[in-house]
Amino acid sequence: MKLRLYDTYTRSLREFEPLRSDYVGMYACGPTVYDYAHIGNLRTYLFEDFLRRTLEFNGYTVKHVVNITDVGHLTSDADTGEDKMEKGARKAGKTAWEIAEMYTQAFKEDIRRLNIKEPTIWCKATDHIKEQIEFIQCIERKGFTYRTSDGIYFDTSKLKNYGYLARLDIDGLQAGARVDVGEKKSPTDFALWKFSPKDQKRQMEWESPWGIGFPGWHIECSAMSVRYLGEYFDIHCGGEDHINVHHTNEIAQTEACYGTRLANFWLHGHFLQLDAEKMSKSAGEFLRLQSLIDRGYDPLAYRFFCMSAHYRAKLNFTWESLDSAAYSLDRLRNLVYEWGEPGTVHQDWVERFRDEVNDDLNLPRAVALTWELTKSDLSPADKKATILIFDQVLGLSLGDWEPKEEVIPPQVLELVEKRQQARQQRNWPEADALRAKVGELGYEIEDTPQGPKVKRKKG
Ligand code: AMP
Ligand code: ZN
Repeated sequence: MKLRLYDTYTRSLREFEPLRSDYVGMYACGPTVYDYAHIGNLRTYLFEDFLRRTLEFNGYTVKHVVNITDVGHLTSDADTGEDKMEKGARKAGKTAWEIAEMYTQAFKEDIRRLNIKEPTIWCKATDHIKEQIEFIQCIERKGFTYRTSDGIYFDTSKLKNYGYLARLDIDGLQAGARVDVGEKKSPTDFALWKFSPKDQKRQMEWESPWGIGFPGWHIECSAMSVRYLGEYFDIHCGGEDHINVHHTNEIAQTEACYGTRLANFWLHGHFLQLDAEKMSKSAGEFLRLQSLIDRGYDPLAYRFFCMSAHYRAKLNFTWESLDSAAYSLDRLRNLVYEWGEPGTVHQDWVERFRDEVNDDLNLPRAVALTWELTKSDLSPADKKATILIFDQVLGLSLGDWEPKEEVIPPQVLELVEKRQQARQQRNWPEADALRAKVGELGYEIEDTPQGPKVKRKKG
């Protein structure tokens, strides 16, 4: 089956065809680095990793761009409230630049621990202020901006299709608008450039043609995606919360300047819920990947847990379901380990697997097929070779896993010890006979410069 993906823009499943022959351009909105990522955020990055791996599984080269939002994301989507970075810095007693660096590193460590492939390009908002200013100038030249006392705003009434991605009811929004739109002409208008407050120096601020200030949140993604992927590229993705405001505004900016809707496909991962509540960083308490590790979980158990639901379904986090994912993963790893050396890949199984992931990334069914393979009548070696191909998408490092602490039975250890003594006495026939006895018990000895290592024979 050819790859089909659900495109939020058209609200339909569409067959994926790349726009260019040399690579698939994919832009994923990255973290706002004012705090650690919570496991909900990480569900979205896992979904994007499954997407990338599925594209690669289909033979495409993916240029995967992820931005780091280190300025301009206000605590309210309505362009009011404080900059999340400056607030986070105050809370941590550090500078905004310091916390940006600290939480960026923590984020990179989290995705490494989850086997999420490193993006081809990381780009920081603060490294692209010039591009953002130029983009705003382009929008200004096209006549889509106006000025208020606190910034330069995008006039959404001027864009014919504004809000199409979210199917926004603009008239309804206008009618229901409460008074606090401030100087904005419409509740959907949004800031492109905000001025620094007159009475206060911000930690992060820049000169611009309009005055000292900082970019609005949405402009960074339009400016950096055009820089790294061009005016119209294959796939843009993020969490479902981005549909109404952030992605809608990214599209508005790019449409105003370049006349394209930015990306051919728009994909959105649904939320992880904790006790049926939306997990949100700004709500204070949240679970990090480290919180799971502190409780003794392998980070890949969380990856496996996320495969239990389709990315377009909500997923409820409970410790019981994480336990069951950890248990299943352990069982799978042990099976694969016991199968020994890989044999021949069974292409019919690989095609069945492709059908599942190509059906809009149906990971729950791909995992079910994986269990079916374990119970099939293929030889252990062929199961192993085939499952390692599945693992290119699953990303569980099944081929590298080894039981951590193997308990070697005392009688085996005793034989190994006797063999060492025989070797020291240069009694080679005796040493060989003892090695053979160890082999009969299902163990093998590897002689290393640090001494003999015993492990269970594979297969
Ligand atoms: P942020 O760092 O807040 O900009 O969010 C980073 C990413 O996580 C975005 O793509 C959000 O859509 C996504 N996200 C936020 N909360 C959740 C959640 N509870 N479940 C899944 N994804 C989320
Ligand atoms: Zn974005």
